[in-house]
Amino acid sequence: TSVPLIQLNDGHSIPQLGFGVFKVDPTETERVVTDALEVGYRHLDTARIYGNEEGVGRALAASGIARDELYVTTKLWNDDHGTGSALDAFDASLERLGLDYVDLYLIHWPVPSQDRYVEAWQALAQIRESGRARSIGVSNFMVPHLERIISETGVTPAVDQIELHPAHQQPAVVDFAARHGIAIESWGPLGQGKYPLLESPAVTDAAAAHGATPAQVVIRWHLQRGFIVFPKSNRRERMAENFDVFGFELTHDEVDAITALEGAYDGRLGPDPAHFG
Ligand code: NAD
Repeated sequence: TSVPLIQLNDGHSIPQLGFGVFKVDPTETERVVTDALEVGYRHLDTARIYGNEEGVGRALAASGIARDELYVTTKLWNDDHGTGSALDAFDASLERLGLDYVDLYLIHWPVPSQDRYVEAWQALAQIRESGRARSIGVSNFMVPHLERIISETGVTPAVDQIELHPAHQQPAVVDFAARHGIAIESWGPLGQGKYPLLESPAVTDAAAAHGATPAQVVIRWHLQRGFIVFPKSNRRERMAENFDVFGFELTHDEVDAITALEGAYDGRLGPDPAHFG
């Protein structure tokens, strides 16, 4: 089973299923990422603020997997939105990862209170031109932030990585992205285990019907909605479970029943991007 590729608006493509390392302890990261690579993941999502880029880099180097078979994303943290600071932060991330380019570099949060995300976006455009990031995008950008970077720089992000799971689907951002050819990446795709998503009947009924697990059903929901997804687990058996999602397909009704969970369980898990940072 091979992971589908999603075509980005800059001509590059990205594996639709990957592995995220938020909250993976730096001391454990090399082992966790090595397990993920052995399970078959080739797309890895990290960030400077996760503090584990070095562990990701060590696992990549030790794997012996060819660079062009890997897809690596990292992110610019909130205190580095100034031009010089963004360029330096990018160099430092590359160095920690032990890579000479990343596939995708993202602005982690817009931090409207600082009002420097347009400047950061110009720095990312420069980094892409240098060839050291194949693609550039943003994370936690809502419609006004997307509108602003596009109108002020003329550069459209390849992706927007946003909190997205059945109880919080962000239709306004998803619609805007579809109209501008921006791919959506879902963070917290399993609801971070913070609400009983995996016990909801819409999910467990579909799981029973397909002989799948609830987590597999939710990952299929993201894939069938067209989102890019990278669930996280420290446990190898769950990594394997979350990767084994290409042997069945949800029906339209099953997808719709999960989509109907919008607004259930209090919605948002993370901070509000309009006020965070
Ligand atoms: P997630 O929804 O992937 O939840 C992970 C948790 O779900 C695990 O810790 C575990 O408790 C549970 N889980 C995983 N597999 C399971 C299974 N098969 N069965 C039952 N429970 C299971 O949440 P996440 O890690 O926050 O999101 C995924 C990735 O998204 C992150 O690792 C990170 O790369 C990215 N992310 C980005 C941002 C951002 O601001 N851009 C924020 C959070 C996460």
